[in-house]
Amino acid sequence: MNTSTPRPKILIIYTGGTIGMIENPVTHALQPFDFSHLIDNVPKVKKLAYDIDHIQFDPPIDSSNMNPQHWAQIAQAIEDHYDAFDGFVVLHGTDTMAFTASALSFMLENLHKPVIITGSQLPIGEVRTDGEENLITALQVAAATDAQGEPMVQEVAILFENYLWRGNRSTKMSADNFNAFSSNNYPELARIGLDITFERKALYRSPSRRPLKVRTAMDPHVMFLELHPGMTEETLRHLLSVPHIKGIVLKTYGAGNAPTDASFTRLIREAVERGVVILNVTQCVNGGVHTTLYETGNSLAAAGVVSGHDITSEAAITKLMYLFGMGLPAETVKKYMGCDLCGEVTL
Ligand code: ASP
Repeated sequence: MNTSTPRPKILIIYTGGTIGMIENPVTHALQPFDFSHLIDNVPKVKKLAYDIDHIQFDPPIDSSNMNPQHWAQIAQAIEDHYDAFDGFVVLHGTDTMAFTASALSFMLENLHKPVIITGSQLPIGEVRTDGEENLITALQVAAATDAQGEPMVQEVAILFENYLWRGNRSTKMSADNFNAFSSNNYPELARIGLDITFERKALYRSPSRRPLKVRTAMDPHVMFLELHPGMTEETLRHLLSVPHIKGIVLKTYGAGNAPTDASFTRLIREAVERGVVILNVTQCVNGGVHTTLYETGNSLAAAGVVSGHDITSEAAITKLMYLFGMGLPAETVKKYMGCDLCGEVTL
């Protein structure tokens, strides 16, 4: 790894989240604060021999308030500054970080530079904060190059505590652990210990050398439908007929299994026939959908439900938004849901 010459140029995009929050003296609730406050708390940033610039959301937001317009804002900022910087660090709340990472991975087609998303569990002003370390390491990862001087990371990734994860393979696993993220179906891209050790085989390399192509349109007419034992026919019918819904991530049991009773299968088939794209994604945190394993999975496939294989829920829902956002018809969306676009799924 070569992190020295010449001075890497990194753009920090500060969107908000706990990392930059401070306590409201009256209500004691955490609220977002501006970038200068954040950086004042990490004087070590100035010790890095990098040229760092920043832009920030105005106002910075808690990531529970993130929406597709915000993703577009981040993607647009990266496109606008793509040639001028070697890498990008996005400071973001942890709550919806995996959704943003997944959305950006689809929006930034032919990405060849690092987009490293990080945040923290404790605000950067707190004595025991994890924010300082996460920010410094994210900057170092964004600046890292290989022996040929190419960026080591050429994809959207989440840096958190001891690991660098592929963004569209990540899930927030803990509300209070410093190692808050995990990628349950894909190895880490790097381990952060005394050194930053990259797993070269795990790093994504786009098969295309074409220039960055940014597509920010996202269609919000998608939803999750999580099965549970005892879900009534009435509930299922109601959920499947939400007006204007084009895509549903059906969160099934185990290896992609669902009830086999006739009314369940009929309601699913009718929705598919109406043109709704239904993707089968397991509720399990590890492993994927194997619809031929049990009759209970087979019946979904027979009803026209597409297998999500080992995709995360976050990547599945944002991929549907992205593909419908391109204005593609349902049949084409179905076809692409079965393809690997940028390392989000193992086929
Ligand atoms: N609620 C915060 C957010 O997602 C939590 C965090 O940053 O960890 O913005």
